Amino acid sequence: MELERTLSIIKPNAVKENHIGEIITLFEQNDLKVKQLRMIKLDKHIATQFYNEHIGKGFFQELLDFMLSGEVVVLMLEGEGAIARYRTLMGATNPNNADEGTLRALFGSKSDLTQNAVHGSDCVASAKRELGLFF
Ligand code: UDP
Ligand code: MG
Repeated sequence: MELERTLSIIKPNAVKENHIGEIITLFEQNDLKVKQLRMIKLDKHIATQFYNEHIGKGFFQELLDFMLSGEVVVLMLEGEGAIARYRTLMGATNPNNADEGTLRALFGSKSDLTQNAVHGSDCVASAKRELGLFF
């Protein structure tokens, strides 16, 4: 496996519900090393750039409103095969479909799939692009 870096965001619902510590503990227990970390409030410009692949989709405005609704924690994680391993640790996009023990099953909203607690880059190219927006 390759040593990789990936971009994580702990989303506003997980920050509001005081799960930052538990989520970072799970990163560390799963050999995803925290290399950099910042707590910030996104603005419309950066959130739109960040989610540019979803512009025009039905859920885009709701996603943007949610991501701007409170503070987030952005992290650079590093590890062997970190991109795919972190996606597995997150679980499915919809928390109702996420496997037991995954971050989205543990901390995502069961009634609102937008509020699924965490973001993770989906491939090497997006990890590079997303990390470049924040670090
Ligand atoms: N999302 C949503 N409705 C949908 C699909 C996605 O609100 O039908 C939100 C959800 O917060 C998701 C984000 O948009 O995490 C980005 O969607 P993507 O398909 O990239 O899922 P991810 O890569 O985060 O699993
Ligand atoms: Mg995605």
